[in-house]
Amino acid sequence: MKYYNLKDKTEVVDFKTATIKGQGKEKGLFFPEFIPQFDEDFIENLHQYPDEEIAFQCMKDFVEDEIPSDILKQIVSETINFEIPLKKIHEKIYSLELFHGPTLAFKDVGARFMSRCLSYFLKDEDKKVTVLVATSGDTGGAVANGFYKTENINVVILYPKNRVSEVQEKQLTALSENISALEVDGSFDDCQRLVKQAFSDEEINSKLFLTSANSINVARWLPQQIYYLLALKQWKKLEKENPVICVPSGNFGNICAGILAHFRRLPAEHFIAACNKNDVVPQYLKTQKLESKETVATLSNAMDVGNPSNFVRILELFKNQFEDLKSKISGYSINDEKTIQTIKEVYEKYNYLLEPHSAVAYNALQQYLSENPGKKGIILGTAHPVKFPDAVEKAIHITIDFPESLENLMKKEKKSTEKQADFAELKRFLLYKN
Ligand SMILES: *Cc1c(COP(=O)(O)O)cnc(C)c1O
Repeated sequence: MKYYNLKDKTEVVDFKTATIKGQGKEKGLFFPEFIPQFDEDFIENLHQYPDEEIAFQCMKDFVEDEIPSDILKQIVSETINFEIPLKKIHEKIYSLELFHGPTLAFKDVGARFMSRCLSYFLKDEDKKVTVLVATSGDTGGAVANGFYKTENINVVILYPKNRVSEVQEKQLTALSENISALEVDGSFDDCQRLVKQAFSDEEINSKLFLTSANSINVARWLPQQIYYLLALKQWKKLEKENPVICVPSGNFGNICAGILAHFRRLPAEHFIAACNKNDVVPQYLKTQKLESKETVATLSNAMDVGNPSNFVRILELFKNQFEDLKSKISGYSINDEKTIQTIKEVYEKYNYLLEPHSAVAYNALQQYLSENPGKKGIILGTAHPVKFPDAVEKAIHITIDFPESLENLMKKEKKSTEKQADFAELKRFLLYKN
């Protein structure tokens, strides 16, 4: 499979190069040259395939012989070596629980796949790579965990000071070794801007080999399709009609992977982009104008994104046909008050505990289902409630216990370096301290 740069279609690279480079010229995102179709038979009989085989079928056309089949099989098995259950909340809404991985967030899937591919591609090269990543919360932990102690790879994570939860902060600051966490006095957008600037800085790039681990990297973005297939596998045993799939969205990598799988024949009735007050895409769906905005801080902080990078990939999938896109995707913007109210209601009525991101999705799906009676759907549960205890406790006044795996982590010391949202400071750190 070849990948072209969405900003300059003459730049065409293979999977290895796309994985190592992260992004192309002019900060353009890579996009597959064609959309490989699943066999109809495979989709029809999904429930008969083991999860690992589904994951392999999902990824093989994007990797081809750049990684030998037996190694790719092992990589995808390790990528999904935790349970991803589809739980029924009530008659019409199910939750795909993507938070049983090592950092309790769906980002574990992409981070695990990418770190393993990158380490495969680097093993015979005399090259040290620096993975540079901005996080609004969960990316940092998943990437730190995925790359922890990986040879030839250093990880530098930028996160916005005071805007991530205690658990999230520990997950990205307590590991050290080859992981450095920079605590930036600014927003996620500031962090992302600094990272993008570093990628286009000549001096840095002449001295270091930088790559990204945000969902702009194809090796992090593409494997997210896997769990949409695993969701359908479970759904088919329970329901007849195709599901409406509702994805809590920030940078739009996750939902874009689901839509890509749909373009490859994965059955889905409709997609919903559930956003918090950062509503660039819901606004676009109303006005056809894509205008990035200042980020607003919300309870669902992993979705506090004012300039969703992956949306260009969705536009490309729909060949920029607004009406087609609008007939397949609806957008909702849910504020913090409704988020809290939703956590409370769902807990009291159905004894199911949501966290702020999945609550945004639940509320959006509920609205859509009330406007479209007769349909049923799935929300993507993107994080464990324990990662967002403040919001959850505010809603239902219970304290959530840390799972055992977290208790040890919480006892570890936070190790971070404070930084102004200033490029010169980041540059100095990358060149001399990393
Ligand atoms: C990252 C994240 C999101 C947003 O995912 P995108 O792919 O950026 O749209 C939603 N929920 C949680 C918990 C996250 O960590």
